[in-house]
Amino acid sequence: MPKPRVQVRPRRRPALHFLPLGGCGEIGMNLGLYGYEGSWVAVDCGMMIRQDLPNSPLQVPNLDTLTTLGIVPQALIITHGHEDHIGAAAWLWPKWGCPIHATPLAAGLLRAKFSERGLKPDAIRVIEPGEAIECEPFALRFLPVTHSIPESCALLLSAGEYRVLHTGDWKLDPEPLIGPPIAPATFRALAPVDLVVGDSTNAPMPGHSRSEGEVAEALERTIARCEGRVVVSCFASNLARVLAIGRAAQRCGRRVSLMGRSMERMVAVARGLGYLDDFPPLVPSDDLGYLPPEEVLVIATGSQGEPRAALQRLSRGRHRSLELGTGDSVIFSAKAIPGNELLIERLKAGLKPLGVDILDEFNHPELHASGHPA
Ligand SMILES: [Zn+2]
Repeated sequence: MPKPRVQVRPRRRPALHFLPLGGCGEIGMNLGLYGYEGSWVAVDCGMMIRQDLPNSPLQVPNLDTLTTLGIVPQALIITHGHEDHIGAAAWLWPKWGCPIHATPLAAGLLRAKFSERGLKPDAIRVIEPGEAIECEPFALRFLPVTHSIPESCALLLSAGEYRVLHTGDWKLDPEPLIGPPIAPATFRALAPVDLVVGDSTNAPMPGHSRSEGEVAEALERTIARCEGRVVVSCFASNLARVLAIGRAAQRCGRRVSLMGRSMERMVAVARGLGYLDDFPPLVPSDDLGYLPPEEVLVIATGSQGEPRAALQRLSRGRHRSLELGTGDSVIFSAKAIPGNELLIERLKAGLKPLGVDILDEFNHPELHASGHPA
């Protein structure tokens, strides 16, 4: 006689929701929410600058969907301190008023942004990479990853029986200059996870992204060959690069000056946290005129052709402290973000008549490395 069949019905578990409101299918404005049993947490709150529009407006994610669905996140979790991950917080967070959890550098940058907009920084809570927080019904572990800014973290988000790995931005770099390389064992030990929400910038590119260590060597070799003044432009948030440029300048007998508000803010916050202890002392830009050209190195914002940035003013001969001319060099230690190509071309067209040597991603690809994995 056949045994009666026992039907085991899978227990229905409540759904885990992922709601991306920015950063998917676009570069910038990262904001994703996770929901479980009516509770939500937001991950990152970034902005985007539309260089292609007049006056380069700052864009933030649209929160209409949250209003329609009545969603208010109970915490904002920050993976790292890049503008496309924190730059919208001072605009959007006041609608939520929830605690913000960030690693020390990202927290320091957020505090500076909040104070610029007259917001109190009380909600900003510091968490060290490697630590975990409970945010019922969610648990979140901050897993250190390598990226172009220190203290970047992936998140292991657990809710009910679900485990999600939200990678944030990352790359594999054996020599990241600041902070340790990724620990593979930490990530192997996470398996199994239900879902990976991952960084896709450069994902279709073959090969490996260059190491920051290699870029540092190339920068020093290149700067050593320059004869006049040197201006290196990179993203202020690429702290490893800023450090590499400062060290290279010192080894080549050059004094360092910073140009650009975001560059000054980044270096000040990073120094306060002890990240730039071996960064050379800075020369105020107003004193550059007293130095012989071969002793001058400027780290400037504006590699993307931003109309109001320091490099743009230099290209137009409108900087009050420095005038570039024949024999000087401008190094673009950054790649064009898609959409900025035209502005960068215009910037270079402004620099050429001054007689400066232009070194960029096309004639010197070794002077930049992506912060994302090919
Ligand atoms: Zn990033």
